Amino acid sequence: MHELSIADNVIRIVQEQLKQHPSTRVKAVYLQVGVMSNVLADSLVFGFETLIQDTDLRGAQLIIREIPVTVRCRTCSCESQIEQFQFHCRQCAGEDLEVISGDELFIESIEIENKAEYEHIDH
Ligand SMILES: [Zn+2]
Repeated sequence: MHELSIADNVIRIVQEQLKQHPSTRVKAVYLQVGVMSNVLADSLVFGFETLIQDTDLRGAQLIIREIPVTVRCRTCSCESQIEQFQFHCRQCAGEDLEVISGDELFIESIEIENKAEYEHIDH
């Protein structure tokens, strides 16, 4: 499953970041996913939640923000956001397009909180 290996990658990156903040826990991970990246958000969240059960990330939330596809027309230089499968320039209807964004996938931010505070609230 494609999403499971992505979730695994995200967890590794977050754990690496967490090493620099030893007394914190991860509250949420914000992930930007382009609509053209062929990632199923639900599957990715499910994979993430399954994989973190036995790790120090347990309880963290994965929040996915979808990035629309943005293209630049090579004919008139107009930039437009397009619906999937409708690849033509909004301004001149040209089809010679360069994809500027929409196929990426990256961690936007990691929300952490102080472990001691969290434990205090929790008990
Ligand atoms: Zn155009």
